[in-house]
Amino acid sequence: MTSPPWLTNGWPHIWLPYTQMQTADMPQPVVGAQGCQLHLADGRALLDGTASWWSVCHGYQHPHIVEAIQAQAGTLSHVMFGGLAHEPAYRLAQRLCTLTGLARVFFSDSGSTSVEVALKMALQYWRNRGNHKKTKFISFEHAYHGDTFGAMSVSERDGLHQAFDSLMHRHYMLAIPNDEYSMAEFESLVSDIGPTVAGLIIEPLVQGAGGMRFHSADILAEMRRVCREHDILFIADEIMTGFYRTGSRFACDEAGITPDILCVGKALTGGHIGLAATLASAEIFEAFQSDTIDTALMHGPTFMANPIACAAANASLDLFERDDTTARVEAIERQNHQQLAACADIPGVRDWRSKGAIAAIDIDATPDDIRTLRRNYVNHDVWLRPFGQLAYSMPPLTISSDELTQLNHALLDGLRAWAQEKP
Ligand SMILES: *Cc1c(COP(=O)(O)O)cnc(C)c1O
Repeated sequence: MTSPPWLTNGWPHIWLPYTQMQTADMPQPVVGAQGCQLHLADGRALLDGTASWWSVCHGYQHPHIVEAIQAQAGTLSHVMFGGLAHEPAYRLAQRLCTLTGLARVFFSDSGSTSVEVALKMALQYWRNRGNHKKTKFISFEHAYHGDTFGAMSVSERDGLHQAFDSLMHRHYMLAIPNDEYSMAEFESLVSDIGPTVAGLIIEPLVQGAGGMRFHSADILAEMRRVCREHDILFIADEIMTGFYRTGSRFACDEAGITPDILCVGKALTGGHIGLAATLASAEIFEAFQSDTIDTALMHGPTFMANPIACAAANASLDLFERDDTTARVEAIERQNHQQLAACADIPGVRDWRSKGAIAAIDIDATPDDIRTLRRNYVNHDVWLRPFGQLAYSMPPLTISSDELTQLNHALLDGLRAWAQEKP
C-alpha cells in the first residue's frame, strides 16, 4: 500500500486534533465519499459509523444538498452579515424558529462559538434587566460544550482541558440527578445558588463527548421546571442531539420542553459544511432592546450565516420534511438492540446502552487499547473511533439495514479481537 504523495508531503506540516503527534498513526487518505462509505486512496471503502463527528446525518454527498451548495456557490458564495442580507439565511432563520418555537436566530460558524454566544446572551440578558448578580452558570459533570474558553469553562473539568485551568472561570458543576432523591437535592441546591446563576447549560438526554451518558426525558423536564421557578435561563446545547439523533427532532421535544436558548450545529447542514446557530426566545431577545448600543449583543463572526452553508442547511431541512426520519431512527434503534446485546459477553465490556441512532459500549480500555481497536476497525473496513473508555456508533441516519448489520458485526468483532489479544 503506497500513500498518495500529498499525504506523505503534507504530513510533516499537519497538527491533528486531540492527538499526541509523536505517536500518531498516519490518517487514512479519503478521496471521496458517498452515502455511508468513505473511499480511500488505495481503492478500499470504509463504512462510516461516526457520521464524521456526528454531523453527516443524510450521508455523504447527498445530491439535494450538493446541488444547493453548487447553485449557491454560483450565485453568492459569501457576503458580510452586518448591514447586508441574503435569502438563504433569512429563509433558514424563519424555518428554524418554526421548528423550535423560538423567536430569533444568531448564526455562527462552529458549535463552540454558538455556545459562547449562548453564554453571552444569558449573562447580558440579566445585566440588561438591571441584575448584576447573576454571573455564574450551572453545568454538569461529563459535559462537553466545545473547545473555546467560555465553552470549556462549562465543560467537565477533569477531562480534555486541564492545561487551560488557570484561565477558566469557576462555575457550578453538578451531577445530573437520576432519581427523585437526587432531584430534590438538586432543587434545594439550585434554590440556594439561584440568585447568582444566569443560566443552566445542558446537553439534553445525551452527553456526547463526555461518554455518551443518558438521562431521562422526565429528569430533563424537571430540571427545566426548576430553572423556571428559580429564574435561571435554560440553555439546551443540541449541537449533537439536534435533528433526530436521539429519535425526536430535538431532544427537548421528547421532554416536551422549550429552552430559553438553543444551540445547534453539526447536523444543521447535513454535515456538509460548517454552520451553527444560537436561537433565543422572544423574551430573551426583548431584553436587548433599548435606544443605546450598550444593551446590544456584542458578537459577530466574520463568516456568520455564510450563504453556501445556509443553503446547505435549507436543503437539509427539505430532506427532513420529505423523509420520515423518526421512523428511520426507530428502526436503527431496534436493530442496534437486537445486534449489540451480545457485546455483554465480551471480556472487557462493562456496560452498553443505546438510544435513537446512538449505541455506546463502555470498555476497560487503556489508551494503547484504543489505538489497537481503532486499527482493528479500519482492518474490518469500518470507520469507528473509540475514545476514552468507550466504543460507540453514530452512523448517518440514512444507513441501510444491511450496512448497519455490517457495522454492528464489525463493532463487536473488533472488540472480540481486542479482548483476545489482551494478556
Ligand atoms: C461538537 C459539540 C460542540 C462543539 O461544536 P464544534 O463545532 O466542534 O465547535 C459543542 N457542544 C456539543 C454538545 C457538541 O457535541
